[in-house]
Amino acid sequence: MIYLDSNATTKIAPEVIDEMTPYLTELYGNPSSMHTFGRQLRDKIEEARAKVAELIGAEPEEIVFTSCGTESNNTALMNAVESYPDKRHIVTTCVEHPAVLNFAEHLARKGYRVTYLPVDNLGRLDMDVFSKTLDDHTAVVSIMYANNETGVIFPIEEIGEILREKKTLFHADAVQAAGKVPIDVKKLPVDMLSLSGHKLHAPKGVGALYVRKGTRFYPYIIGGHQENGRRAGTENVASIIGLGKACELAGKNLEKEAGYLSALRDKLERNLLRLCPDARVNGDTEHRLPNTTNMSFEYVEGEAILLRLDEYGVCASSGSACKSGSLKPSHVLRAMGVPSTAIHGSIRFSLSRYNAKAEIDKVIEIMPKIIKELRELSPFGKEKIKK
Ligand code: PLP
Repeated sequence: MIYLDSNATTKIAPEVIDEMTPYLTELYGNPSSMHTFGRQLRDKIEEARAKVAELIGAEPEEIVFTSCGTESNNTALMNAVESYPDKRHIVTTCVEHPAVLNFAEHLARKGYRVTYLPVDNLGRLDMDVFSKTLDDHTAVVSIMYANNETGVIFPIEEIGEILREKKTLFHADAVQAAGKVPIDVKKLPVDMLSLSGHKLHAPKGVGALYVRKGTRFYPYIIGGHQENGRRAGTENVASIIGLGKACELAGKNLEKEAGYLSALRDKLERNLLRLCPDARVNGDTEHRLPNTTNMSFEYVEGEAILLRLDEYGVCASSGSACKSGSLKPSHVLRAMGVPSTAIHGSIRFSLSRYNAKAEIDKVIEIMPKIIKELRELSPFGKEKIKK
């Protein structure tokens, strides 16, 4: 199997599994218990909190553990509207993950005004349009650090500086960026930032929300006193420990890994563009995650490509993971104005540290064959080949 779908989810690092195993077996206590058996886990959770904080330059007490990136995003938006009840305007972009978009729609149904910022044909924000949408009623601006489908990175620092001047709360969904590009909240003017374990080689079912010291906070999950009253529910101890380890590993190797991944990704992209006619790359290649490429092979169905790749044991994705199983065209590519013939033939390859050079060579060898075969089956495709 060649796994090139790491933006959907990642392989759990073996070091992470080793670190977690005792807490799934012998050390099963509840960290809230009075006895030593349970209490000893509190230190491990704090150790993990410090490691997550370190990856993004935060203080440990600024990290709240959650169950996933979706919960972190929902918490951030809910916090903003609960903390500033008089402000009824939310700003986000057309290309967010559904974890933000659908929550914004939920708020819109409750009477909030939501502005969805457009992007250009490379998936970039127009900063002038952005500035003009802000007003005194804006409760929060939620913009992703990097797009999950194209890998395009947004100018979070520039956006944050404008928002700081306007004293407007800023949330960044960094679920795809954390562990792939350096993030330092000491320099980055964000108030809240979301992470997810399973995108950086920790397990599914754990995430974190960074909340800058001094930011008002209203819990989303209400119940017990866990997480200092900021997120109720008995802690997912083993996964929190796993997330800590994953963040430590990511931080240690970040630059080296980014160089390795971008070299592999660029090789794949360059060769597919060379060997497959009517292929294109979607999104701004200058400001992009090192592990991601979104390519379109015109006049072929992305799903058909995926099925053929699957027969060769290659896992990729056509758009975001949440869309698989539906033929609805990607909202991200549509917002970028990608022609429909190219949207339907779009494939996302997303790499990780576990991909070997030989795997990329294999994909470079089989993809042109797959595209040629599929075009021969499609009357429209045949026309294009003859041309
Ligand atoms: N935000 C982005 C940018 C994502 O890519 C994803 C998952 O694909 C999420 C949020 C949701 O994260 P989770 O799967 O941990 O809920």
